[in-house]
Amino acid sequence: MILPVYLCGQQVLRKVCQDLPADYKDLDQLIGNMFETMYNADGVGLAGPQVGLDYRIFVIDLNVFADEKPEFKDFKKVFINARITERDGEDVVAEEGCLSIPDIHENVTRKNRIRIQYLDENLNSHDEIFEGYKARVIQHEYDHIEGILFVDHLSGIRKQLVKGKLSNILKGKTNCSYKVKPASIK
Ligand SMILES: [Zn+2]
Repeated sequence: MILPVYLCGQQVLRKVCQDLPADYKDLDQLIGNMFETMYNADGVGLAGPQVGLDYRIFVIDLNVFADEKPEFKDFKKVFINARITERDGEDVVAEEGCLSIPDIHENVTRKNRIRIQYLDENLNSHDEIFEGYKARVIQHEYDHIEGILFVDHLSGIRKQLVKGKLSNILKGKTNCSYKVKPASIK
């Protein structure tokens, strides 16, 4: 089932999310819905708060880039109750966007390498290191479960420049091809 994507301005996007309870019912259904919602919106990552849930869960699928970059083949993952334990390597700048902040694309500086502990869709635990674009997407999604949005990383000047677009999103003035839930709708 395709879920509405909560837009910037919705309170849930600002919450530090809680761990997903071990006995959470319908986890498979939630994960299926999150992937479906993400694919429908042409996204490569989606986090719990973006579908209105303040739980530490996010999904990522980079297969869309696999033709150009074979390293992304089969990179379809679910991260539950994740904790980033290390961030190091170089600072890398690259453009990001977000399904919750339509029509805004801005450069964000992030560390090139992370170490993360998480549970997968079968609740098996992992402790892994990711680098490059994978590390970037994971950090973007991880920010969501910490109540952080990518525009928070922008410098004062860039923030000023996207202000108008952000206020349109708050008012629900967006041109999304997917179903959304703007802050103006309770
Ligand atoms: Zn996002």
